[in-house]
Amino acid sequence: MPDDYNNGKSKSRIIVIGAGIGGLTAGALLAHRGYSVLILDQAFVPGGCASTFKRKGFTFDVGATQVAGLEPGGIHHRIFTELEIDLPKATPCDPACAVYLPTEERPINVWRDPEKWQEERQRQFPLSEPFWQLMEALFKASWEFQRRNPVLPPRNVWDFLQLTKAVRPSTFITVPYTLFTVGDALRAYKLGNDHRLKKFLDLQLKLYSQVDAEETALLYAATALNVSQLPQGLYHLQGSMQVLSDRLVEALEKKGGKLLMRHTVEHVKVEKGKVTAVVICNQRTGEVWTESADHVVANVTVQNLVQLLGNKAPNGYKRRVEKLPPASSAFIVYLGVDESAVPSGCPPHLQFMYDTKGPIGENNSLFVSVSHSGDGRAPDGKATIIASSFVDTQQWWLTEDYEGLKQQYTEDAISRLAKFFYLKPETIVHVEAATPRTFARYTARDQGIVGGIGQRISTFGPFGFANRTPIKNLWLVGDSTHPGEGTAGVSFSALTAVKQIEAR
Ligand SMILES: Cc1cc2nc3c(=O)[nH]c(=O)nc-3n(C[C@H](O)[C@H](O)[C@H](O)COP(=O)(O)OP(=O)(O)OC[C@H]3O[C@@H](n4cnc5c(N)ncnc54)[C@H](O)[C@@H]3O)c2cc1C
Repeated sequence: MPDDYNNGKSKSRIIVIGAGIGGLTAGALLAHRGYSVLILDQAFVPGGCASTFKRKGFTFDVGATQVAGLEPGGIHHRIFTELEIDLPKATPCDPACAVYLPTEERPINVWRDPEKWQEERQRQFPLSEPFWQLMEALFKASWEFQRRNPVLPPRNVWDFLQLTKAVRPSTFITVPYTLFTVGDALRAYKLGNDHRLKKFLDLQLKLYSQVDAEETALLYAATALNVSQLPQGLYHLQGSMQVLSDRLVEALEKKGGKLLMRHTVEHVKVEKGKVTAVVICNQRTGEVWTESADHVVANVTVQNLVQLLGNKAPNGYKRRVEKLPPASSAFIVYLGVDESAVPSGCPPHLQFMYDTKGPIGENNSLFVSVSHSGDGRAPDGKATIIASSFVDTQQWWLTEDYEGLKQQYTEDAISRLAKFFYLKPETIVHVEAATPRTFARYTARDQGIVGGIGQRISTFGPFGFANRTPIKNLWLVGDSTHPGEGTAGVSFSALTAVKQIEAR
């Protein structure tokens, strides 16, 4: 049992379940604002899907590899400024991604410079410029709106007030598009039959929205497709992704907050519709106890939250979660290689789409992150290559030969990657793979699902899961809530929940 985490002077006692970027950001901000904070995480290291592991001198980012929101005014920048901690060193990704469509030798480069990107897309997708202009206009309005901290979806008068305060005349340009998908917009611009553009959009959008262009909400897509360009942009962190969590832990502890790793929350207790405590198990000692709290912030998937509530989960909420379309999950291969395996001038992020058969499948893709010399991820003369693809979650739980399936996927991924990288026994130093079962084990995410809730019309922004849950003083943060997945997205959700707690 921890020492009392309330110093007696603070506003209230808050327990945060999970030390992912969402939970750490919420916990650090709450500690900074004078609350007594205890964060509990079942894993060995903080960071969840944005943490790392080390093998043979290599440092591998487990999931997230690139970061948005580091620019002045960006969400990480704003939060780190409030917490009075230094932003991690980072290099901009330019191109943000080099996208290879099946059978094509030359990539579509998503450049950081907006003009260069405009030239590239006009060359790659003639006649599509009006569509991109609409995306830019919607992005500008949505970005400004998001920066004014709206609460989405609103659940009470205070939330609604925050939402209306964020609205400006420029926001109204987005309103008519609220129920549009990217597929609808393509058809409106007579681009519905442009299969090459569609494939490119499917690839890029799935990374952020978990669903293809046909299903992705247009307003969400506007942000996903424009965030890689200046004055925003994507960054590659110096050292590894772990640095983000380390800085947040430093900020938490500086203000007296506590983080206990290897502590699992087994149950959230509710009395008369209000959260009262959590049941904690210390994984090292097996000790189980109940810790009371004024507020509980759950940095877990909404599916996990329902399980933690047990029979106290409100029926309507439970039914809504049960009715969600299947969530996405990933297969990831982590390679430690000799530098000679990486072509010179290789961009930090690439995406390959395939039309070839194999375990990874036709019409699937690999999203690849490559370390560069001196970025802290590999010993001198070596590099890391991390490649992920979307997979069917159930296949990994139903198989009778899990190790065999994992081996088949690993071999398939390496043979696909070998068309671009020089991957031979003499250049590969380390191979390891992660599946939904791996994510379930290390991040405790239900079934190992990752990436949050698909950003379809029925589940994005105004129609998504709120930070405010139906249980009083129980808050949900992380990639199940607005504005969705990514370290930047979950930081926004944490900031919103913190403001809501303060407003009580
Ligand atoms: C393969 C892959 C690639 C990605 N690439 C990018 C990228 O390049 N850029 C980007 O921004 N994002 C990327 N993402 C998404 C991003 O990593 C996540 O959206 C984000 O990190 C999720 O953060 P979170 O705080 O919501 O949750 P999580 O990271 O899932 O953290 C939740 C934490 O809660 C803990 N926990 C869960 N249940 C309990 C319990 N009962 N008791 C105690 N602890 C518990 C877990 O151990 C975990 O540490 C990627 C994700 C994946 C999987």
